[in-house]
Amino acid sequence: MKKVLIVGATGSIGRQALDIIRLHKDEFRVVGLSAHSDEAKLLAASSLCAREGLGAPALCLSGAEPMDKTLSYAGPDALMRFIGDSDADIVLNAAASAAGLTPTLAALNCGKDLALANKESIVMAGRLVLDLAKAKGARVLPVDSEHSALFNLIKRFGRDAVHGVIITASGGAFRDRPLESLKDATPAEALAHPTWSMGAKITIDSATMANKGLEVLEAARLFDLKANDIQVLIHPESRVHSFIRTREGSLYAQLSKPDMRLPILNALSWPEVLEESVADLDPGLEGLSFKPVDYARYPLLGLAYDALRAGEGAAIAYNAANEEAVAAFMAGRLPYTGIASVVQACLEYDLPALVEGLPAILDSDARARARARDAILEYA
Ligand code: NDP
Ligand code: MG
Repeated sequence: MKKVLIVGATGSIGRQALDIIRLHKDEFRVVGLSAHSDEAKLLAASSLCAREGLGAPALCLSGAEPMDKTLSYAGPDALMRFIGDSDADIVLNAAASAAGLTPTLAALNCGKDLALANKESIVMAGRLVLDLAKAKGARVLPVDSEHSALFNLIKRFGRDAVHGVIITASGGAFRDRPLESLKDATPAEALAHPTWSMGAKITIDSATMANKGLEVLEAARLFDLKANDIQVLIHPESRVHSFIRTREGSLYAQLSKPDMRLPILNALSWPEVLEESVADLDPGLEGLSFKPVDYARYPLLGLAYDALRAGEGAAIAYNAANEEAVAAFMAGRLPYTGIASVVQACLEYDLPALVEGLPAILDSDARARARARDAILEYA
């Protein structure tokens, strides 16, 4: 029985994690749940655990004063104490945004395995995170569907056999929208994703392909790949999640329906492989199609490759500037096409190839956010 703590239990990934654990009650026990500010949903998730016999989790509300005064973990340092005090075997980090770096480091510092949905942790601090995991003897198990696919393929073939990878992208809500009308795109339109159902920020990032950009950076750090080793293809049906290209010239793919419960389960159960519970063995193979990315439609993907080539400071700036720009777009303070312009402006500074240690990472993040906010004001 594996003991699981879920950070970001009230979000899209967190809820799907509880759902898949419900289908594998004999394998897992939920020992901790956190949310940031949605106390009602946190308490509802806790009740679901009790009702379904999943466990009696400790609770943490990391970003708001709780109404329920019996909630023992609340406030600024609560998440670190919460993870530190827990006897969980594995922490699922499904927090949104750069704020996910804190629970990532907290889990690894205690030597706990980490099922990592929060790609921002790896984009901002990949080297620090992986070095820490190694030092503590803990595993980093990717949850992002493309990286879960790559992780499983690379484990099977061995890293030395792999010459390059292809990650797929649905193309998001604006795949077929006329280019000249993108400047008028609204948040509601960008939130209408054709195949995946996800949290708001990542859905906007799917429309711009900043999500794929973050995933290129994530794949590079997780699997030690160079920019030229990673290709992105548009695959509207979202059935193939990634390919590896082996040295002898073959491509191997992982296919499944677009359902995050599967990569969540794979990460939580690793190295065991559990009997499938949600995977439809016929993911729908008719009419699968692949095409190259039009970089004029998705400038944020090109910028991610630039950031990868430039180094760690640029990767941090890319993520930070994009988070600020997406928040401004959602608030009606920046047009859709301004998101890429703001990120580009923030990458034009002299940024260090290596950023050593957490304080320098957080400082680079803060600096890029300040620059992004200035660029957003100028844009208006
Ligand atoms: P959601 O916005 O749906 O949920 C985010 C969760 O994080 C909520 O539980 C929220 O709590 C919590 N949270 C918000 N801010 C903070 C903070 N500052 N500190 C700690 N916790 C916080 O996001 P998703 O579930 O869509 O995404 C989560 C992560 O997983 C992201 O990094 C995303 O890129 C990644 N991911 C998501 C996929 C998906 O299908 N959704 C696919 C692949 C990766 P509250 O409810 O209280 O606000
Ligand atoms: Mg993904």
